[in-house]
Amino acid sequence: MQYKTPSGTRDILAPEVCLWQQMEAKACELAQRAGYTEIRTPVFENTELFVRGIGEASEVVQKQMYTFETPGGESLTLRPEITAPVMRAYLEHSMYKTGAFRKLYYLGPSFRYERAQKGRWRQFSHFGVEAVGSADALLDVETIALGWDILTECGVPGLKLMLNSIGCPGCRPAYHDALRQYVTKQKDKLCEDCARRAEENILRILDCKKEQCRAAMKDVPRIPDFLCADCAEHFGAVRKGVEQYIPDWELETHLVRGLDYYTRTVYEYVAGELGSQNAVGGGGRYDQLVEELGGPETPSVGFALGLDRIVLSVQSAGGDSPVVRAPVVFFVSVGDELRPEVQKMVVELRRSSIAADMDYEGRSVKAQFRAANRLGARFVAVLGPEEAASGMVNLKDLSTGSQQQVPTSELADRIANG
Ligand SMILES: [Zn+2]
Ligand SMILES: [Zn+2]
Repeated sequence: MQYKTPSGTRDILAPEVCLWQQMEAKACELAQRAGYTEIRTPVFENTELFVRGIGEASEVVQKQMYTFETPGGESLTLRPEITAPVMRAYLEHSMYKTGAFRKLYYLGPSFRYERAQKGRWRQFSHFGVEAVGSADALLDVETIALGWDILTECGVPGLKLMLNSIGCPGCRPAYHDALRQYVTKQKDKLCEDCARRAEENILRILDCKKEQCRAAMKDVPRIPDFLCADCAEHFGAVRKGVEQYIPDWELETHLVRGLDYYTRTVYEYVAGELGSQNAVGGGGRYDQLVEELGGPETPSVGFALGLDRIVLSVQSAGGDSPVVRAPVVFFVSVGDELRPEVQKMVVELRRSSIAADMDYEGRSVKAQFRAANRLGARFVAVLGPEEAASGMVNLKDLSTGSQQQVPTSELADRIANG
């Protein structure tokens, strides 16, 4: 029997994993530069957190959660997203008491039971930020620009921002009424899922990707036309900032996002090369989420970027493929007896911050040289009986072909100044 990864999951191997490391490092660096600090939460939480936070009627809660019962009888769920856990942590640690405003970022896997296809995995990685405790429209702008800059730095091709406002609990009922009237007339033309959504979660009909629904919803009333004065002013300020910082953006009045907790600003980043699964990230405001979870009024805004799709889009755009880090120096030992001596030098060089390596496969001298070349080492250090007797190493610079006898005590300096 051969074991394989479960459907919708995968192993990430070198050299692709180097691309992941680069993207993750860039995202963390840019977030830190903007004043966000990292938060790490467990990969599973009490099921109720997601039911309450994301919304009972949402597709995520209804169909996509990995929920299990522990031997102790608790119901736990692998996190399908990380905003609700971050807000849970914000409350659990009473962050609102020690200065309500927090800027947090996170990085890690989430889990959703979805139909597996290209660019959509059942375990996927999100990088995200949450700016918690302010309704300032400039904060929406800051997060939108930060996400944009991370994606741009990562080299995501054909990037575009889709922006909308879905209003607040004050102005949403009027839109819902208008939407319901429209949907009632179109009901026969909608897909099965949307027929159900019309009862439970009508806004999500706008989000349906099926051709028949898109056509039926073509002339639907536009959400921004129903915003109350406060929401309209807020959205105006967000748009003004977006115009200033985002070179390619569009008002997308159908955009609603998949999770129920969003209010006011919602947005998505899309990439040129990815086809139907082209969203590389998205976010928005969730001014009621903390209250929904039992906390004080805490308006907040944030985004999540999908690292799997970022990597996919960067790969599909071509460009330099990432390379596995090469040793700076590879040792060749002439004769087995000298291998412990060689290992001593390798360990010492590593302790001097120099990437060094040696053979562990019993290779011949010739094969050790070939290995050094294949790994892309800059130097080859040869230790034979003669060198060992005189406390020297033969150091060959593979970029110039020059070689010289170097005292072992000077090896690290010589290589560092190489
Ligand atoms: Zn409003
Ligand atoms: Zn539909």
